[in-house]
Amino acid sequence: MIKPMRAILLLTLVAAAAILAQTKFGVSVKPGPMDSVLLKDYAPDSSVVAPETKVDKARFPVIDVHTHTSQSHIKTSADVADWVKTMDETGVETTIVFTGATGAEFDRQAELFKPYGKRFQVWCSLEGGDVNASDWPERAARELERCYRKGARGIGELTDKGSGMQRGAQPRAKRLHPDDPRLDAVWKKCAELKIPANVHIADHPSCWKPLGPNQERTPDFQHFNLHGKDVLSYEELLERRNRMLARHRGTTFIACHLGNQGNDLGALGKVLDAHPNLYLDISARDYEIGRQPRGSAKFLGKYQDRVLFGTDMERAATMYRSWWRLLETADEYLPGRIWWRYYGLELPEPVLRKLYRDNALRILAWN
Ligand SMILES: [Zn+2]
Repeated sequence: MIKPMRAILLLTLVAAAAILAQTKFGVSVKPGPMDSVLLKDYAPDSSVVAPETKVDKARFPVIDVHTHTSQSHIKTSADVADWVKTMDETGVETTIVFTGATGAEFDRQAELFKPYGKRFQVWCSLEGGDVNASDWPERAARELERCYRKGARGIGELTDKGSGMQRGAQPRAKRLHPDDPRLDAVWKKCAELKIPANVHIADHPSCWKPLGPNQERTPDFQHFNLHGKDVLSYEELLERRNRMLARHRGTTFIACHLGNQGNDLGALGKVLDAHPNLYLDISARDYEIGRQPRGSAKFLGKYQDRVLFGTDMERAATMYRSWWRLLETADEYLPGRIWWRYYGLELPEPVLRKLYRDNALRILAWN
């Protein structure tokens, strides 16, 4: 008969031995200095020796449909001039700029870009104020038209990550989600003026999963996490987006970041099939495209008339060039974000041409 203390000791030793002898993928796992490395500090070097194709300039002139004045640090005309220099060096013909503004601030920003003519297209934001006021829908549509007359050729990026599109916080029942009838007048005005809306609905699905050992994205992305917060679910947001698309067939919508469904291109294809007024931009989803290059190339081929190029990642020349390398070359194991290495898509020229430029020429407003 074994005494209790001895039994506990024995069990502890057995457990310790089990940990020591743990095997993963056929390799026995043993403790060591790596165990004290923090997840956020993990930055493995690569020993892969593979061709590295330099693509300084995009193969065709590019229209970048997704940038922000704030994110690109544009304050003065010297900043704009500097941006144009980078655009020239990297092959960007035109940049769509989200001013994030209405009213006097929109007008100010529109003036800032005016000297460059067609090199930029400025878009306005959604009217602020109390969205619960009975005259808000009418005011919002009127302000959109006023901005249009001042040069706006689209509205967006309008974001709903589950707490509504209105400016400022609102209690759950009063939030402005994409299918809300209070937005009908704005979406209708877009159709009437023949200008598109860029919408950011939901977010990367990992945002709704807990932060912990199974979280898909690295700690660098944890501030975007929404798990347990007072927001709509990922699925409900997509449903509401689809209801908006069905309700406003005459309005052209660009769902940015691959509609936040780049993780499931099969499901995303079905949404495109069901809603002919929906287009996508690939901005900030280099990691979705790059981690599944064969599936993405197939998707971009099948839906070659529906997807537009965008960046949403500030304005450094290196940033643009890493996109060209990803889309144009067959390079492998490219450095990427979130630890995910990318693989070049080597897109065929007709697909690349539509993605870079032709779709934007066709669906955006150029008058
Ligand atoms: Zn954006």
